[in-house]
Amino acid sequence: MRTSQPRTIYLSEYRPPAFLVDHVDLRFELFEEGSRVHSTLTMRRNPESTDSQAALELDGDRLTFLERVDLDGRQLTGSEFEDQGDRLVIADVPEQFQLTLVTWLEPQKNTRLEGLYKSSGMFCTQCEAEGFRCITYFPDRPDVMARFRTRVEADRAAYPVLLSNGNDVDRGEIEGGRHFVTWEDPFPKPSYLFALVAGDLVEKKDSFTTMSGRDIDLRMYVEPRNSNKCDHAMASLKRAMRWDEEMYGREYDLDIFMIVAVDDFNMGAMENKGLNIFNSSCVLASSDTATDAAFERIESIVAHEYFHNWSGNRVTCRDWFQLSLKEGFTVFRDSQYSADVGSATVKRIEDATLMRTAQFAEDSGPMAHPVRPDSYMEISNFYTLTIYEKGSEVVRMIRTLLGPDLFRKGSDLYFDRHDGQAVTTDDFVRAMEDASGRDLGQFRRWYEQAGTPQLTIRDEYDAGDQVYRLTIRQSVPDTPGQTNKKPQHIPFGVGLLGSDGRSIPLRLSGDDSNVTERVLELTGESHTFEFQGVTEQPVPSLLRGFSAPVKVDYPWSREQLLFLMNHDPDGFNRWDACQRLAIDVITSLVDAPAETPVDPRLLTAYRILVSDPEQDQALVAKMLHLPSEAYLIELSGEADVQAISRARERVLGELALTLRDDLVACYNRNQQSGPYELTPDAIGNRALCNTALAWLLQANDEEGRLLARKQFAEADNMTEQSGALRALVNSGFEQDREQVLGEFYQQWHEDPQVVEQWFSIQASSPKAGELPKIRSLLEHEAFQWKNPNKVRAVIGAFAGQNLVRFHAEDGSGYRFLAEQICRLDDSNPQIAARLVSPLTRWRKFAPAYRGSMKAALETIRDKKDLSRDVHEVVHKSLAG
Ligand SMILES: [Zn+2]
Repeated sequence: MRTSQPRTIYLSEYRPPAFLVDHVDLRFELFEEGSRVHSTLTMRRNPESTDSQAALELDGDRLTFLERVDLDGRQLTGSEFEDQGDRLVIADVPEQFQLTLVTWLEPQKNTRLEGLYKSSGMFCTQCEAEGFRCITYFPDRPDVMARFRTRVEADRAAYPVLLSNGNDVDRGEIEGGRHFVTWEDPFPKPSYLFALVAGDLVEKKDSFTTMSGRDIDLRMYVEPRNSNKCDHAMASLKRAMRWDEEMYGREYDLDIFMIVAVDDFNMGAMENKGLNIFNSSCVLASSDTATDAAFERIESIVAHEYFHNWSGNRVTCRDWFQLSLKEGFTVFRDSQYSADVGSATVKRIEDATLMRTAQFAEDSGPMAHPVRPDSYMEISNFYTLTIYEKGSEVVRMIRTLLGPDLFRKGSDLYFDRHDGQAVTTDDFVRAMEDASGRDLGQFRRWYEQAGTPQLTIRDEYDAGDQVYRLTIRQSVPDTPGQTNKKPQHIPFGVGLLGSDGRSIPLRLSGDDSNVTERVLELTGESHTFEFQGVTEQPVPSLLRGFSAPVKVDYPWSREQLLFLMNHDPDGFNRWDACQRLAIDVITSLVDAPAETPVDPRLLTAYRILVSDPEQDQALVAKMLHLPSEAYLIELSGEADVQAISRARERVLGELALTLRDDLVACYNRNQQSGPYELTPDAIGNRALCNTALAWLLQANDEEGRLLARKQFAEADNMTEQSGALRALVNSGFEQDREQVLGEFYQQWHEDPQVVEQWFSIQASSPKAGELPKIRSLLEHEAFQWKNPNKVRAVIGAFAGQNLVRFHAEDGSGYRFLAEQICRLDDSNPQIAARLVSPLTRWRKFAPAYRGSMKAALETIRDKKDLSRDVHEVVHKSLAG
């Protein structure tokens, strides 16, 4: 029933909706064999519409059967409407009317997990971006905002809990052992924020008193087996609610806020008004089953979805080209929150790593698009790192340029001015301009131009005049459909260090202040900054705190990087200097003869890190992470994955051997006693122990093996247990590997979230994750094709993290991925399209890889009835 040829949708085609919906009255009859949806829409023509005679057109998708259409209480005959499957057209409607539709759905058969579906015996929904049209015909676009009233009916014994958005206003019994609950949401919202849940769930209750003194009922709904895994999410929710009041002046609005955990879910979580639905892996945690990283991820996702209540729900997007309006801003808000509740430097390192490794790759690949795209075929493909992470960096830069006070004034103005509206990224920027008086005209190019700006930086020191000159040139590379780009407005954080490690005052001409850190504003293609009164050749600390999402080219010497590692007052740049040094050393070994030694200065620098307990251990733990293979590939020209990986392993092996005794000492020193704590220090200690183990086992060290076995057996938390497991799995101790994998599964086979980790540790390991093993994991009793988490844990981890095996020179890894994508395309095209990503940048790789990657893409392209989702990614990758 869907139109077969995928069509491109353009921002320039945007027109206001022809009709508005003031009220939606929904009634869901949920049965085992299917569900009936009664929908009554109170509608009127939109006075803003450019076409006052337009026919009424509603969106639909895979609705099993349209049972009935009534207009103002009169049933329409078949000739009075046109049911086109993906559209319902009624040519003749009055200015105002009530339209009632009755549709029949089969949620049990819905494997795409869009619209209404069943997961582990419960009904749930996912409507963003275009899932509501899978429930009933509707003007399914975010600029149509309506008040919803929803009555849910189901069997009382099987589905005691019936939820939807808003406040619970009525409930009662129905004949035949059934019951109903009616929910009313007083706030107008787009259909993508609609949600419904019905199931046999336990309720965990808490409460929160808002800044104006209102008591909010907080509830989590989970399956009974998960009732001990709710505390962390609930505590995170309360912290996030308080933080949003203090930092943004935003108070929660409904009387009740609910979180539901669902096992089968395409995304991480969804911010439906008052009823957030979470992927179980992004909300459930206890210290024995979740790692530190999972705890931190859960805290940030709970906060993110909660923050959407204002940045997304109260003020929403006019159209899907504006997706970053809600996502970029909300990711920025959750990253500020995580920085406040944890370590700000560590959070910045994590964000920058994600940007530089994955978003820069997206920005230079065939799917490159601006933060506000101009066109798309399938909007589900645009839930990207560019929209989310780069969008967040863009908001961060606005804050850097305005300063915290004016930024807060701007966000207040934005929320007040647009409350209850569907708006654009331009409206957001205008509010920032109006509140601050600053002109962000050129800054808007960050929303319009795709591609990562490149800064080429050169400097010179004039000892006679005591002047230090920094010349910065910028260029923005061409991307598909965009060439000859204009310079962007870039905030550039900088400091200068003297030979004693002290910061040098940054006096630009005519300025005699003593500031030692500045944010320079780059607007032209080239700038030269002259710093006066500099008495010696300084070492520059550039792009402090990753002040803009750009690439920096500066000819650092290894001596300078070692100096910055030890002296830069900016923690982020200390880490960055360490990364750059390691990258330089590894890269120089890629094509070098086998006997070329690893630079001893790198080994010494790492020895200092491993041995110095006075340093911030959380930062040290991050500094010890060698740059990933993925990042090294990103930095190289035509990437030879096997050669890059060998060079990296070589450095790792050398570090492990040389620092062996220091690693054992570091391990012992960072051992913790007492109860599990989630402070930055404790997290840093555990991370250091796990890194020490991983390195020792990299060198097949016998004492390391014993320490890992002991840690595995005695751990009282998942961070330690899985850290030991991962180290053993990646070691050459084959017998231990098989033994601990077996024991771990035996211990945790009833816990799906832990089993996901078990899958992922194997699939991402070059030692344990050879292709036949990956295939056997797909046959494992715990693997389920219907469950996106399992698919990601095996296929996603293999293609995204196990790069040596995925990029096997015979092309078997690529063929395997193509095969799985074709298999998934029919059942869950959203997930299938996401898995294509590792193949899309085939042009980036050396000739030995390129041909087979392209061939794998062609195999997918030629599949019969390819979904629009996969079609778009594959065709764009092969184009040009
Ligand atoms: Zn979001």
